[in-house]
Amino acid sequence: MIVTIDGPSGVGKSTVTKALATRLGFDYLDTGAMYRAVALAMLRRNIPWDDAAVAAVLPELTIELPPGQVWLNGEDVSAAIRSPAVSQAASQVAVLPSVRRFLAEQQRRIAAGKNIVCEGRDQGTFVFPQAECKFFLQADARVRAARRAAELQAHGQTVTVESVLADQEQRDRRDALRELAPLRPAADALVVDTTNLTLEQVIETLERVIRARQAGAVDEG
Ligand code: C5P
Repeated sequence: MIVTIDGPSGVGKSTVTKALATRLGFDYLDTGAMYRAVALAMLRRNIPWDDAAVAAVLPELTIELPPGQVWLNGEDVSAAIRSPAVSQAASQVAVLPSVRRFLAEQQRRIAAGKNIVCEGRDQGTFVFPQAECKFFLQADARVRAARRAAELQAHGQTVTVESVLADQEQRDRRDALRELAPLRPAADALVVDTTNLTLEQVIETLERVIRARQAGAVDEG
C-alpha cells in the first residue's frame, strides 16, 4: 500500500509521516530531502538554476536514504541539507522539469513493492496517482511558521517567526505556481486542516483512515 502525504512547508508532514510509518510498520520516504540533496550538490558546484545546466549534472548524483539519513555521493549530508540556504535552493531546483522527472523516477523505484508513506508536494498528484490512500495537510501560514521556527530554534538555529514566514511564503508560491507537478491536493485526497489540531490528533485521524482502507482492501480481496 502506498500512502501519500502532501502539503505546504511547515505543516508537519515529516513528523506525521514518521509517526504513521512506525505505527503501521511501513517504510517512509521524505522526498523533500531528495530535492535538498540535489540543491546542495548544485550549490557546491555553482550551477545556475537553469534546466539544461542542472540536467547535465544529475547523472553524477547518487542519493541514498538510509533510515533517518540522507547521503549524497557517499557523504552523509543529513545536517547540511537543513540550512535556510539549502531550503531556498531546494525550492528553486524543484521548479526544473529535469529534476522533477529524475527524482520522481527514483521515488517510484524506492516505493515499488513496499508498504510506504511518501511525503512531499506531488506524491498524490504526479508521482503516485494510483496510491491507495492520499492526504493533503494544510494549516494557517502563521501557525506553520511558528511551528517551524520553534523546531529550528530547538536545533540551535537563530531564526524568528517573521523570517521563517517570509521564506515559507516564497517557497509555497514557487511550489504552487510551477508548471510541472505544482503543489495542490489530488482530486481523491483527504484534505486535513491541522491549524487547530494537536500532532497526536492529526496522526490518529490519518491512522484511522489508513486502517479502514486496509480493512476494506482485505474485504474486497
Ligand atoms: O519538504 P521540504 O521542505 O524538505 O522540501 C524542500 C523543497 O523541495 C520544498 O520547498 C519544495 O519546493 C521541494 N519539494 C517538491 N516536491 C516534493 C518535495 C519537496 O517540490 N515532493
